[in-house]
Amino acid sequence: MMDIGTRSIFSEEHDMFRNSVRRFMQEEVLPNHGQWEKDGNVSKEVWLKAGENGLLGVNTPAELGGVGGDFLMTNITWEEQMYVNCTGPGFTLHSDIVMPYITHYGTKEQIEKFIPKMTSGEWIGAIGMTEPSAGSDLQGIRTNAKKDGDDYILNGSKVFITNGYMSDVCIVVAITNTEAKSVAHGISLFLVEASMPGFIKGKKLQKIGLKAQDTAELFFEDVRLPKSALLGEENKGFYYLMNELPQERLLIASMGQANNEWMFEETRTYVKNRKAFGKTLSKLQTIQHKLAELKTEICVGRAFIDQCLKTHSQRGLDSSTASMAKYWITDLQNKVATECVQLHGGWGYMLEYPISKAFLDARVQPIYGGSNEIMKELIARQIVSDK
Ligand SMILES: Cc1cc2nc3c(=O)[nH]c(=O)nc-3n(C[C@H](O)[C@H](O)[C@H](O)COP(=O)(O)OP(=O)(O)OC[C@H]3O[C@@H](n4cnc5c(N)ncnc54)[C@H](O)[C@@H]3O)c2cc1C
Repeated sequence: MMDIGTRSIFSEEHDMFRNSVRRFMQEEVLPNHGQWEKDGNVSKEVWLKAGENGLLGVNTPAELGGVGGDFLMTNITWEEQMYVNCTGPGFTLHSDIVMPYITHYGTKEQIEKFIPKMTSGEWIGAIGMTEPSAGSDLQGIRTNAKKDGDDYILNGSKVFITNGYMSDVCIVVAITNTEAKSVAHGISLFLVEASMPGFIKGKKLQKIGLKAQDTAELFFEDVRLPKSALLGEENKGFYYLMNELPQERLLIASMGQANNEWMFEETRTYVKNRKAFGKTLSKLQTIQHKLAELKTEICVGRAFIDQCLKTHSQRGLDSSTASMAKYWITDLQNKVATECVQLHGGWGYMLEYPISKAFLDARVQPIYGGSNEIMKELIARQIVSDK
């Protein structure tokens, strides 16, 4: 995307895959995004088309019903979505946050039931951790699943759930043991299907950015869950979450980095065309220096992210490094967004200019997936640990 030299982590096969993803994003996502922003959600059709084109469940093993590509291939889908500056489709959360829980902890029956339908785009996945009174402190959740014979009865609510409104299946984090030595020891995960009586979807939430994402509140009123809805072992939910969160954080960072590159290129083109004082803005030294500063920081970010992507593709990325990537890149993203809007002047403040959307969309990146303050906690914990 950007003139930062050749990236060394990809093969020719990756490049070919990137071309087809790029075409999909440019032809199927970009032209429709404005309408989806008005609707507050993307179309079901684009999910099905993404499935047909092999863009969902890319890194899910083929023998489990996924596409069977490697991790770097799925990362290409994250990057290409950001290179068209379209945050609407929640493909990445579906494919690389929700599906791995099912393939890593699900039974054969659960995998057979959900994975092929999620790979085809027929079913959309979501994950519900956050509640109105518990976000950063997950141990403050109140949603609970009480045993009733072989079944569980689920009660509670979740908020800010990405893909929530369109979801067909949601992984719900709930308390199953109120007497555990800590809440973390009494949490389980459940696969809750939209068709289950008592699963009620609230309205799509009105946000300052991510306008085409169907972020929703979800309510569970005496939802009867069969034992087969339990994902993994009872009371092991917190442990599963801790295992999976590094990939979620890397995903957010990688998308943030790709968007930094997009914002830079968009702004470079703008200042090379915009005239002031008898010449283009790009001829002014202060503007040139600003671009030089931005490019330097973005290139530093790229080097770090590529190192993280490579390490993660070899299954070696630790939680602390993933947290560093998430915190640093998303803070940088907000800085780049602010500077690029500034370089666009008043037009940068107009919604018809895509840079304004990037600015609004960037704001949430340091908040979700574990806030950047929590990322610093995790990084610091490892630094001062005596182990
Ligand atoms: C658009 C969007 C999509 C989302 N999608 C999902 C989703 O799909 N699934 C899901 O489960 N959740 C989702 N979330 C929720 C998101 O992960 C939470 O908003 C986030 O974890 C922060 O929790 P909170 O909003 O309750 O803020 P709080 O936890 O109340 O935090 C408020 C502020 O206090 C700071 N803070 C809290 N604790 C500490 C501490 N110990 N030290 C220092 N500072 C601290 C935080 O960093 C933050 O700045 C989404 C949120 C948004 C906005």
